[in-house]
Order: sequence, then structure tokens, then C-alpha cells
Amino acid sequence: MADEKSAAAEKTKTLDFIRTIIEEDLNTGKHRKIHTRFPPEPNGYLHIGHAKSICLNFGVAQEYGGLCNLRYDDTNPTKEEQEYVDAIKDNVRWLGFDWKDREYFASDYYERLNDFAEQLIQKGKAYVCDLSPEEIRSYRGTLTESGRNSPYRDRSPEENLDLFRRMRAGEYQDGSRTLRAKIDMASGNLNMRDPVIYRIMRATHHRTEDTWCIYPMYDYAHPVSDSLEGITHSLCTLEFEDHRPLYDWFLEELDIFRSRQIEFARLNLSYTVMSKRKLLSLVEKGVVDGWDDPRMPAISGLRRRGYSPEAIRDFCDRIGLAKRESLVDIALLEHCLREDLNQTSPRVMAVLRPLRVKITDFPEDKIEWLEAENNPEDPSAGSRRIPFTREIFIERTDFMEDPPKKYFRLSPGSEVRLKHAYYITCTNIVRDTETGEITELRCTHDPESRGGWTKDGRRVKGTLHWVSAAHAVPAEIRLYDHLFTREDPLDLEEGEDFLESLNPDSLEVLTGCLLEPELEKAHPFDRFQFLRHGYFCADKDSTPDKPIFNRTVTLRDTWAKIEKKQS
Ligand code: ATP
Ligand code: MG
Repeated sequence: MADEKSAAAEKTKTLDFIRTIIEEDLNTGKHRKIHTRFPPEPNGYLHIGHAKSICLNFGVAQEYGGLCNLRYDDTNPTKEEQEYVDAIKDNVRWLGFDWKDREYFASDYYERLNDFAEQLIQKGKAYVCDLSPEEIRSYRGTLTESGRNSPYRDRSPEENLDLFRRMRAGEYQDGSRTLRAKIDMASGNLNMRDPVIYRIMRATHHRTEDTWCIYPMYDYAHPVSDSLEGITHSLCTLEFEDHRPLYDWFLEELDIFRSRQIEFARLNLSYTVMSKRKLLSLVEKGVVDGWDDPRMPAISGLRRRGYSPEAIRDFCDRIGLAKRESLVDIALLEHCLREDLNQTSPRVMAVLRPLRVKITDFPEDKIEWLEAENNPEDPSAGSRRIPFTREIFIERTDFMEDPPKKYFRLSPGSEVRLKHAYYITCTNIVRDTETGEITELRCTHDPESRGGWTKDGRRVKGTLHWVSAAHAVPAEIRLYDHLFTREDPLDLEEGEDFLESLNPDSLEVLTGCLLEPELEKAHPFDRFQFLRHGYFCADKDSTPDKPIFNRTVTLRDTWAKIEKKQS
């Protein structure tokens, strides 16, 4: 019954504007099958904003029984690299999507793009222009002023064809000539004022190497690539809205398959930046430790931080699609993360700032193996055994000599529960004779409270995590905070640089942390909940000899609170 209800609810759930269009196109028979593409430019690593586009493009294809291509928009050889191509592939696959054998490169179409350009020339719809880039800009006019025709605009198709072929043959210097579409210098849309479609640029391309010295512009290569691949719905972000007339113009003039461009708002997230160029500058300036620094919104960074693909997909689903830009609260992303990790992460104990505790009435050489459940949310996760010994470590912050009222952790004379183990009572404090610093606590335990529950039903309010001193695994633990202190780091006053709001405390490295022995077996990228501390993930550089864990996220869910208030 509940299932039926939710299925019905699912059906009546209002469709977003893109799915509405797709359903219409399928219902009216405009398309029998839909075909989308995810078109990254390999000039940087993908970020969470791209995840939105990936989930959308691959997602709608899956939902409507269609196909989605992975296509690299590699039309700018000076900024593009194979390293980025490889990382993009890894990221998309990791997010859970599969393009099968449909991996394409705009550079695969260079020859055909060149043929199509010749067709435009022959139709009188493109011309070779000798104006310099600066001159082109000044002839272009402004939003309020119409542009002026280039003096080269009326060259004959024969002359243009000859010049264009010689451009390709390398007879002219970089930047000395361009091929331009012949549209309308008085158009209200600046993109339609005879845009450049080819430029001369001697640059080695990461795939075609030095085959070409002319390169197509994105605005030309993109629609033609879409069309050649039979893309039915070309989904892109809002900044391309003003380019759509040009997109349509190329397909009309060339009379090739009419792909349809549809724009949606890009994702912006609070306390971070999303542009590849800005992220690259953080990498190059050494502000972060590479694209996969766990503070980066790059997918590689999120992965290294401990994000799961499920959490990212859930987030992309929840933010939905809009036609207007907005700033999404990063707390929502973290909420999705906690929801997933809560279900899937084994619980373990780790002491970040250790304080030694001696249980004076526990036999010196005894090792007691206690049963501990791995995940109360998932009985199938089973249990493990953890060693309890006379000497253990607890969290330094779990002890106070002079506690305020309602302090439920350990203090002189008070009793607390050690998780999965025993009730203990603090009897003595040992200090460093010189500094006076507390170096050790002495406690007694109640042997009747094995497993953490007393026979007489006596209750305590505090439950502490701990590790056996003889078995503890030393580790480095890295705690993270937002990369920027400002909610919108790009909302700048005049003269301000976005780097000024970098958070100086975005990374705290703790050494000498102690983990329960189970964690020695952890592999890079394994995820856990460290009781009371949050979710953690073994770093990519973590080894059994030198374990390193990244805190993915704390346990406190600020978004759940916001949601509760609203409902
Ligand atoms: P950036 O502006 O971050 O450098 P980009 O748009 O130049 O990104 P592309 O490689 O061209 O990056 O993007 C590939 C696809 O991902 C494009 O369709 C683009 O519209 C989409 N995309 C990029 N950033 C976002 C974002 N923040 N939200 C949603 N989609 C995005
Ligand atoms: Mg781009």
C-alpha cells in the first residue's frame, strides 16, 4: 500500500521544464528516442556543478530509454590536456554513469567542421576577414550601437575559399585572418554580428598535435558536433541563452540535423567557488594541495574527502532545475552526505586528542575481547570484536577537573560508560610534576557492567569512546572547514580579490591520534563513522604504516534543523 502510494506520488510529481519538453517530444513523435551529451572542455577537473549537468544528461537519457554521449569540447589547444581527459572519464564513471562506446571529441570532427565551413563559404554565408582581433572588436559595436561591416565582407566565395584553404595550409601568421559567419552586423544580439568561426593559431593540440593551425570556435563546433551525433536535446547552462540564435543559425544554414539547445541555471554553492579558472588558480598558487585537495569542490576532491557518488546524485536530484541562478546552501549537500553515510558507514572508535586512563582494578595482562556492532542502522553489517585492557585512551576533552553543572562526561568521582565496555569511575588524577598538566587518569570499573549495561539498572548520562593503549593504531587526522569564510566568495566589493576571503582555518592537521585496531586494515577511500566525531575517509595516501584519515563531515546536521523549522 505504502509502495503504491509513493509510486503514485512519484507519477504526479511535477516534471521540471526539461523533462516536460522531452515528454512532449516523445509523445508527439518528434523523437522516437532521446539523445543527450555531457560536453566538458578538458581544461580542468570537473566540479560539483558539472555533476549537476552529468546527472541531468545521463539521468534523463536513462529515465526515457535514450542515450547520452560523453564528448570533449576540445577546441582550445592552449588550455587543454590529456590529464584532464583522463580525470573527467574517471569522475563520470565514479559518479555511476556509463557512456558505453560513445566517447567523442570535437577534434574528431575537425575535418568535417572544415568541410562545413567551406559549404558556408560557397553559400556566401562565411568570409575571410583580415581585421585584427582589436579591429574586429571595435567594428562590432555595443549593446546600444550597431556594428559596422568589415571591409572584407563582400569578398567573393571563390576568393574566400582560396584564402580559407591557404589559412589552413599555414600561409598566414597567427591572428592575421579569421573566417567569419556572414550574418548581421546590426543584430540586437552581439553574438550574431558576424562571429568568428575559425582562427589561426599555431598550437599543439593534445590529440591532433600539429595537424592543424586553424581551430574552430566553440560556438561553431558545438552545434555542429551535437548535430553530427544526433543529439536531440542539447542541455547547457544559462550563459548560452544568447548564443542559441547562432546555434540554430549554423544548423539551418548547413541544413543538418536540428539539435535543440535548452538552457538551465548553473549550480552555485555557498562558501566555495565553481569556475574551473578560479579553481585552477587555487591549485597554481598552492592554496590547496592539488585538484583533489579534500577542500576543493572538484569531484576528485569530494571523493578524497569521503563523499559517496550516491550522496552527490541525491543532492543533484534534490536541487532540481531552474531557469534562474541561485546560491545553494552547502548544508544541503552535507545533509545528503550524512543521510547516505549514516546508512552505509561502519562505526568505529578513534581518539583524536588522547588522554591515558589506567583502570586500576582491571588485571594487568588481561585482554578482553568485546562485541561491538558495526552499524545500528544496518544489522547486516554485523559486528566485530574490540580489545579492552587495563590501559586505555579517552578523549582529552572528555575529562574536566572542575566540571560545570550538567557535565555528563568524566570528572573526579563521576561515573561514565565506556562504549561497548564498562562503567568506570575516576578516582585519581596524575600530573606532570613540572608543568602540572594532567598526564593520566586512574579509574575503577564495575565488572558487572560488561558491554556497557549494569545489572542493577543504574544509569549514567555520559558514554565515551576509547581505545586500548596496547592495541591503538597511531594516525594522522585532517579536519576540514569551508574553503572560504564568505557565503558568496564572488560577491566582491570594488578592488577586492576573491582570495581575500579564503578561510585560514580550512585545514587542521592532528597527529598522534589513536584508532581502534580494526582501522589498520582500512584501504584508501574506505569510509567510517568515528563515534561522536563525524564521518571519516582513509586518505588516498594512507598506508598501514602511516594511516591518514580525512574528516568528511561532522555529525551535526544544520540542514535537518532548517528543514524542521520550515515544516
Ligand atoms: P566553468 O565555468 O566552471 O569553468 P564550464 O562551463 O567552462 O565550467 P565546461 O567543461 O564547458 O565547463 O562544462 C561542461 C558542461 O557542464 C557544460 O554543459 C556546462 O554548461 C556544464 N556546467 C558547468 N558548470 C556548471 C554548473 N556550475 N552547474 C551546472 N552545469 C554546469
Ligand atoms: Mg566552458
